[in-house]
Amino acid sequence: MLRRTKIVATLGPASSSQKVLEQLISAGVDLVRMNFSHGTAQDHMARAETVRAAARACGRVVGILADLQGPKIRVRKFENDKIILNPGDTFILDAEWDALGNQERVGLDYKELPKDVSKGSVLLLNDGMLEFDVVEVKGSEIVCKVVRGGVLSNNKGINRKGGGLTAPALTEKDMEDIKTAALIKADYLAVSFPRSADDMKLARKLMHEAGGKSLMMAKIERAEAIPVLGEIIDASDAIMVARGDLSVEVGDAAVPGLQKRMIKMARARNKLVITATQMMESMITNPIPTRAEVSDVANAVLDGTDAVMLSAETAVGDYPVETIEAMVRICLKAEQEVEESEIDRRLTHTKFSRIDQSIAMSALYAASHFKVKAIVSLTQSGSTTLWMSRMNAGVPIFALTPIDSTLSKVTLFSGVHPIAFNLESKFPSEVLRAAEDELVRLGLVKEGDMMVMTIGEAIGKSGHTNTMKIVRVGDHRAE
Ligand code: PGA
Ligand code: MN
Repeated sequence: MLRRTKIVATLGPASSSQKVLEQLISAGVDLVRMNFSHGTAQDHMARAETVRAAARACGRVVGILADLQGPKIRVRKFENDKIILNPGDTFILDAEWDALGNQERVGLDYKELPKDVSKGSVLLLNDGMLEFDVVEVKGSEIVCKVVRGGVLSNNKGINRKGGGLTAPALTEKDMEDIKTAALIKADYLAVSFPRSADDMKLARKLMHEAGGKSLMMAKIERAEAIPVLGEIIDASDAIMVARGDLSVEVGDAAVPGLQKRMIKMARARNKLVITATQMMESMITNPIPTRAEVSDVANAVLDGTDAVMLSAETAVGDYPVETIEAMVRICLKAEQEVEESEIDRRLTHTKFSRIDQSIAMSALYAASHFKVKAIVSLTQSGSTTLWMSRMNAGVPIFALTPIDSTLSKVTLFSGVHPIAFNLESKFPSEVLRAAEDELVRLGLVKEGDMMVMTIGEAIGKSGHTNTMKIVRVGDHRAE
C-alpha cells in the first residue's frame, strides 16, 4: 500500500552512517532534515553525500531539508555544566558576562536581550521547563526570580512568554549557512523564527544570490508570526508547525488548534506543511510509542499535514529505525480514515487563474468522480503536481520527470510519488504511452486500470501543462 503522508527524519549521531541511513530509508524516510545548529559546512556536505549514496543504494529518492539555526537565544556554559535552581531563587542573566556561569549568573549569546525585556516579563528556559519572572533590568543584567525551578545546563534556549524578542530571523551564521545549503543543493531551506513575510523574502534572495534553488520553508514558532500567518505563508513555499518553540511562546494549549489552522491555510494557498516536534518523543528511549503519541501522529495525518517530522528520535535516539516503522504503521492506518469530500467543496466556488492549475483541478475532479487507479503527472517543475496534491482524491499521484531537483522536491508532497522518467520525443501521445508502459513495468498499475494523465504539449517546458487524458492501461497496445 502506498503511503500518502511523508516522513522527515532529523539526522544526528544516531543516524549518520550510511548503513543506518539505508535502514531508515528502507523503513520509509522520505526526506532528511539537516539541523544547522550542529556541525560545520564540511560536515553538512559530507552528510548530504552519504544521504544521496544511501538513497541510491535503496533505489529511492530522498529529499534534503536544511534547517537554519536562527536567532535561538541561549544561556552560555556553566562552570560545572549545569546548576539546579529552586523556586524563589534569584538568578541573573548577564549579557556582558564572559566567564563560565555559576549559581548566581550566566552569560547570554544574544547581547540585546536586556533591551528586549523589562520588569514583569516572563522568561521560559529549556523548552519551558524553567520559568523566570524578570524583577529588574540593570544595564547588561536581567535580574530574575525563579518561579519554576529545575536543572539549567549549558546552552539551553530562552523564550519570552508571549513572544516579542526582537532578534532578526537571519543571523550572520544563517547567512553563511544559506551558502552551504545552496552548495549541497538542499531541496528545502527552513528559516527559523521568521517574524514576517520580509524575513522569508530576504532568505529567498540570499539563496538566489548563492546560486541555490532551495524552496523556502517558514518555521512557525514565534508568537508574532501568528497574526501575519497568511503573509508569511504567501511568501514561502512551505511551512513547519514548529511546536517546540511555538508552544513555549503561545502556551501549549493553543498549539493543537493552531496546528489545524496552519495546515488548512497552507493547503488552501497551494503550499506544503510539515508537523514537527515531540511526535514520538518517548521513542528516544523506548521501542514503542505512547498511546498519546500514536494519536498525535494520526491526528496530524487527519488534519492533512504533508509530512510528520522526527527530531531527537532519529538524531540521538536509541530506536531510530523502530520509530520510522511505527510512524509508517500509524500514517497508513490513519490515511484510511481521511475524508475525500473536500474536492467538491473546494472546487465549487474556486476560479482558476492559470492553465496548469485548471488542468490539475480537472484531473482531480475526474479522479474523484470516475473510478481511476492513479493520477499521472508528467512534469518539469512539479507545479501542476503541487496543485493536484493540495486536495486528496484518494488515489496516488505519480510524478514523472527527468529533472532530479523536481524528483527530490516532490518527496514532501503528500500523496505524490517521484518516478525518474526521460523520453526524448516531440509527441505527447508517444510520451504518454511510454509513461504508461513504465508504470506497468514498475508494477504500479496493470492492464485494465484507469488513469488520469496530464502533460504539456510543449514537451520539456515548465509551467506548460495544458492537457489531460483518461486512459485505460493496455488499450494503446490493442490499437
Ligand atoms: P527546532 O525547531 O527543533 O529547530 O527548535 C522545531 C521546533 O521549535 O518545534
Ligand atoms: Mn524551534
